[in-house]
Amino acid sequence: MSDLRIGQGFDIHRLVEGRKLVIGGVILEHDRGSLGHSDGDVLCHAIIDAMLGALCLGDIGKHFSPTDRRWEGACSLDLLKAVEALIKEEGYEIVNIDSTVILERPKLSRHIDTIVEILSENLAIRKKQISIKAKTHEGLGDIGAGDAVAAQAVVLLHRRL
Ligand code: MG
Repeated sequence: MSDLRIGQGFDIHRLVEGRKLVIGGVILEHDRGSLGHSDGDVLCHAIIDAMLGALCLGDIGKHFSPTDRRWEGACSLDLLKAVEALIKEEGYEIVNIDSTVILERPKLSRHIDTIVEILSENLAIRKKQISIKAKTHEGLGDIGAGDAVAAQAVVLLHRRL
């Protein structure tokens, strides 16, 4: 196998009343939150899928089944840490992560520094290795109507050993 491995991930969650809106481990103030088996952290889930993709180890549903009660209400940062341990086990380390969160409201920009800090702590990598971009969906479709939030991520891994 090559010393470098790349993976991409995508996730989308419905936004509903009575749920928290958690993105990258930050709880955003909003009248709706992401529906999901875990805390519904769309950014963590996209990054997890990108990491698993880079390792050719399937997807988030394979490792953390939505029918498994262990993951009910789970903090996605814990799932992220578990997958980071898997990267180490496979003999790789993260080179960098680039991601985009697509959300009509609330504005994510003022939370990005905090999210980068949280992810850098949980993944034990430097902040300069993590990029998070945010954009709206220009009012189009379900995301544009504020009924959903989506995220995309690309992760590059490098062989450690
Ligand atoms: Mg998800």
